[in-house]
Amino acid sequence: MAQQFDVVVIGAGPGGYVAAIRAAQLGFSTACIESESYDDPKGEVRLGGTCLNVGCIPSKALLQSSEYFDMASHHFLMHGIKADGVKMDVPSMVRRKENIVTQLTTGIRSLFKKNKVTLLAGRGSFTGSRKSERWQIEVAGKDGKSVVDAKHVIVATGSKPRQLSGIEVDNKSICDNVGALSFDAVPRRVGVIGAGVIGLELGSVWKRLGSEVTILEALPDFLAAADAAVAKEAWKVFTAKQGLKIHLGAKIGKLTQGKGGIGLPFQSDDAAGVLECDKLIVSVGRVPNTDGLNGGAAGLKLDDHGRVEVNDYCQTNLPNVWAVGDVVPGPMLAHKGMEEGVMVAERIAGQAGHVNHDTVPWVIYTHPEIAWVGQTEQQLKAANVAYRAGQIPFAANGRALGQGDTTGFVKMLACAKTDRILGVHVIGTNASELIAEAVVAMEFGASSEDIARICHAHPTLSEVMHESALAVDKRPLHF
Ligand code: FAD
Ligand code: NAD
Repeated sequence: MAQQFDVVVIGAGPGGYVAAIRAAQLGFSTACIESESYDDPKGEVRLGGTCLNVGCIPSKALLQSSEYFDMASHHFLMHGIKADGVKMDVPSMVRRKENIVTQLTTGIRSLFKKNKVTLLAGRGSFTGSRKSERWQIEVAGKDGKSVVDAKHVIVATGSKPRQLSGIEVDNKSICDNVGALSFDAVPRRVGVIGAGVIGLELGSVWKRLGSEVTILEALPDFLAAADAAVAKEAWKVFTAKQGLKIHLGAKIGKLTQGKGGIGLPFQSDDAAGVLECDKLIVSVGRVPNTDGLNGGAAGLKLDDHGRVEVNDYCQTNLPNVWAVGDVVPGPMLAHKGMEEGVMVAERIAGQAGHVNHDTVPWVIYTHPEIAWVGQTEQQLKAANVAYRAGQIPFAANGRALGQGDTTGFVKMLACAKTDRILGVHVIGTNASELIAEAVVAMEFGASSEDIARICHAHPTLSEVMHESALAVDKRPLHF
């Protein structure tokens, strides 16, 4: 007889592994199916999905290493520190990144053990429609196939890189995120297609380490999803100060590859020519991963973009089948997937789990970092919402001056009538951490006056958040 579970999760990325742990915590017999080994040296499946293996975690490790290198090479001097002959050992940097990944992925294995989640190694797929109100899920592993039986199924199969026709990724010269996180030396010239989050983060890594980096972006606007003031400041810093070459409105032609490297003809709003590079990173978005799930056999409905169609509670069109994370609509962010995983497990338990998609923060881990929550000024204008804005630069902050890092600002947008905070936008050092205060404030329905009346430690960068709230009411104290 097939092994029986209350909950079977397909996919062990942030959406799936968190859903599995929470379901087990709530007392359900739970299994999680994962197929990918992500080149594990022992050939074992690796937990943590894109995020831990080839996404958030390894990219942030490389961003940190490259930032230290950049600091030692260019910024220590202002503190009176002379560091001559600073050298980069790329294999050590990559090894450190891999160690962090291993530590975290094995950590999820331990969490599964601790919470009594059964790990099933293999590809999970629907076998057909529900029988006696239970789903049969096939697990195709290294040693053959088996079928498990589940009352609830949570699809958490994530996403994969979007491909461009005529540009075949081999993860040697032409790379998606997987190859671009594992170069064994600093390439002389790096080309990037797509000035989105991955293009900017990984472009920054290799630029800091000495590559000449050129990014081709199809859209005429830079960082169109961010607040326009933030995008403008980021453009200035990334291009003029840091030397990233970014061409907007770029149309690319037929790629060539030869001894001299890769040639990519393009025409953009400001230039036309051939982008010549030694490594090309293709980062043009990600697509939901429903390959091999056999959802069609069960009648699982997808939307026009190939994402699993769900309602606000991540319920699909099928009874007791749920879907979370990158495979469903919404921003492709690890923390969004994790929250959905918790919500689904709690709803299975009859609790009132929910996710407030309006307060999901965004962070881009460039330097300066960019982070925001809520609406941008252009969105408020388009929706005809009356608002007040307060914007304070880090240059007016003692801690930022002490750190020698004063780029950027905090901008707070609040409703003109009620003063409720509608959006907060940060570009500057530690924006990723600073945004948490704004998320909490918005989650609690705070007004700018609430933040203005909270005591913020001195001297800290968080005082810029405080001052931006005061600035909404045109009464900043230090600017
Ligand atoms: P995934 O993490 O993609 O996991 C899905 C898992 O399901 C995979 O392990 C896959 O092998 C498995 N699977 C698929 N089909 C099957 C099947 N049929 N059977 C069994 N297993 C299956 N997000 C952030 O919030 N912050 C960041 O800083 C950040 N940085 C990123 C950097 C890069 C370079 C990339 C590529 C992404 C980054 N992201 C970041 C996005 C983040 O990684 C994703 O949003 C997140 O991993 C989505 O989680 P998920 O569980 O939905 O899917
Ligand atoms: P993205 O959507 O952020 O950016 C893709 C960019 O490629 C867009 O600006 C798009 O206009 C451009 N583009 C598309 N087709 C093009 C073409 N033919 N030529 C030139 N440009 C083209 O996608 P991404 O950078 O690939 O990242 C994928 C997802 O991973 C992100 O949406 C994000 O959700 C997630 N991610 C998050 C983080 C983070 O949270 N810090 C970091 C990395 C990735």
